[in-house]
Order: sequence, then structure tokens, then C-alpha cells
Amino acid sequence: MVKKEKVGGKILFLCEICGLGYLDEETARECEEWCKRTRTCSLKITKKAVYFPNPFEKQKGTDSTL
Ligand SMILES: [Zn+2]
Repeated sequence: MVKKEKVGGKILFLCEICGLGYLDEETARECEEWCKRTRTCSLKITKKAVYFPNPFEKQKGTDSTL
């Protein structure tokens, strides 16, 4: 389920799987659907993200350990 959260005075819609935040619920839902299906992030969708949680940045750095 897409999470609705207030960040910096703005209502953002967060993908529950990757944690990225979007300004509109539709994109967040699109991201979540994509994450569920592919377990990766679609650049087409994530480029619309306006909020990046810290773990997301860390994940990118730990890719090589997989
Ligand atoms: Zn996502």
C-alpha cells in the first residue's frame, strides 16, 4: 500500500517497497506495482521521485556485496 506522509510541509506518497516519495499517488502506486513485480526500480518512474530515503542511498552502495 502507498503511504501518505507529510514531508517538509508537503504531502508525499511513498512507495512502501523502495521508500521513494512522489507528489502524486498514481506515480507512487505505479512504482509500488513495478517494485513488486520486478524488485528493481524503473528509471522512468524513479526520476519522478521527489523524496529519497537514506536507506535507498545506502542500498546502492551495497550492491557489490550481493
Ligand atoms: Zn518503489
